[in-house]
Amino acid sequence: MRIRSSLLSQIDKCGLAAELSSQHAETSASAERSRLIRTEVTRAFHVQDRGALPEAEAALAWLRGEPSTAIKVGESLDLVDQETGEVLVSGRPGALLFGPNLAAAWKCGNPMGYGEPEDDLGLIAMGLAAFGGQPFQACYVALDGLQAFPRRSPVFEPASHAGLFARIKAAAGRPPVACPGDWCGACRCNVYCPAWKARAEVALTVLPKEMRAGPEKLEITNANSGALMQRIKDVEVAAKLAREQLKAFVRGGGECILDGKRMVLGFCEGKETPDLSALKAAGLTQYIKTGEPYETSTWRSIEP
Ligand code: SF4
Repeated sequence: MRIRSSLLSQIDKCGLAAELSSQHAETSASAERSRLIRTEVTRAFHVQDRGALPEAEAALAWLRGEPSTAIKVGESLDLVDQETGEVLVSGRPGALLFGPNLAAAWKCGNPMGYGEPEDDLGLIAMGLAAFGGQPFQACYVALDGLQAFPRRSPVFEPASHAGLFARIKAAAGRPPVACPGDWCGACRCNVYCPAWKARAEVALTVLPKEMRAGPEKLEITNANSGALMQRIKDVEVAAKLAREQLKAFVRGGGECILDGKRMVLGFCEGKETPDLSALKAAGLTQYIKTGEPYETSTWRSIEP
C-alpha cells in the first residue's frame, strides 16, 4: 500500500488512521493554510520574489539563510522498497537543501505543538528518498506569523538508514485496525473513527455517575481522579472538534443562532505584544507589569 508521507507518523501509532484518511479528504482550516503557504513559497522562490503571506515570507527567509548549493522546493518524491520495487511512501517534503543534506517541511500554528523532527517518520521517509546513502537531517520549520522556528533532528548517518527504512516499512504495512491512545485527539480522522466516537460518547456524558453526589458536587477520590482527568481531556478535544466543524459550517454559508444572536466569523489584526527582552535590555522595566501569582498544574513522572 502506498502511504502519504504526511500520514506516516500517525500510522506508526494507528493503522486505521491511513484507511480513514484515504476515504476522507483533509479540509481543515490549518490544512488549507498550509497548502496556501506551500503554493506561495514555491511561487515566490521560483520568481525570486517575496512571499505575500507572513508565514511564507518567514519560510523563504529561513530557506535563503541556510548554507546550501541547491534548493528544491515542493518536489514530489517516492520512497521505493529496493527488494520489491514497490513505492512505499510518496510525498512532498516542502524543501530539500543540498549541501548539508536537509529535508524540511513547514507547518503553521503553535511551534510547540509539533513534536520532535526525529519522530516524524514521514519527513524521515522523504529524507531517505532524497538522500538515502548520504547523511541527512529532517527539519521542521514551524511558522507562527512572521517568525520561523526551525527544529532539526540529529544527523542520520548511512549506517542508520536500513533501520529507519525497516521502521517505515513496518508502519506502512500496519493493518487498518484502531489503536486508540493519547494521539487520538490529534488524529484528523477521529470524527470518522468508531473507536474515537465510542470514547467521545462516553466523555460527553461528562462525568460518570459514581463521581456524582449531587447536581454540583463531585466525589473525587484518589482512585477515580485519573479517570476524571481523562474525561475532562476527552470533553475538551470533542468540544474543540465540534467548534471547528460548526465554524466551517457557518463559513460555508450555514446559520448558527443562539439566545437570539447569530454567529458571525471575521478576521482581526494580530495582537500587539511587548518584547520583554528588549524592554529589559533597554532598562525600561517600569513598563513591565507583573500580575498576581496564579495557580498552575504540570505533570511529573512518578518516582519508581
Ligand atoms: S482516532 Fe485514534 S483509533 Fe481512531 S483512527 Fe485516529 S488514531 Fe486511530
